[in-house]
Amino acid sequence: MILSNTRQSKCNICGGTQFELGPNDRKSSTGKPPRCKRCRSLERHRQLRQVYAQLPDSYLTGLEVLQLSPDIGVDPAWFSSYEVSVFQGDNSLDLEAIDRTDASYDLVI
Ligand SMILES: [Zn+2]
Repeated sequence: MILSNTRQSKCNICGGTQFELGPNDRKSSTGKPPRCKRCRSLERHRQLRQVYAQLPDSYLTGLEVLQLSPDIGVDPAWFSSYEVSVFQGDNSLDLEAIDRTDASYDLVI
């Protein structure tokens, strides 16, 4: 699979076309500003979105998902369940002893 959206001029998450410098005034490896001005996504968010876009819808719809830290590239509506855990924040889970029954998730992001 070739991921080409790092050089894109249109955000594949929100459709935005304007980009700005990333954290610590970082530019992308191509020298372009990496952060979408509209949705604030970075390259990694858009690349993850592209990976998901390559998957058949039927693959995602049945999945029970645990997301570690919010990710703008992921749409919770794709999955049958979607739980977000933020370290020392909302719904913080201890990753060494996740307080859920075994096999609660099909996918951990
Ligand atoms: Zn965007």
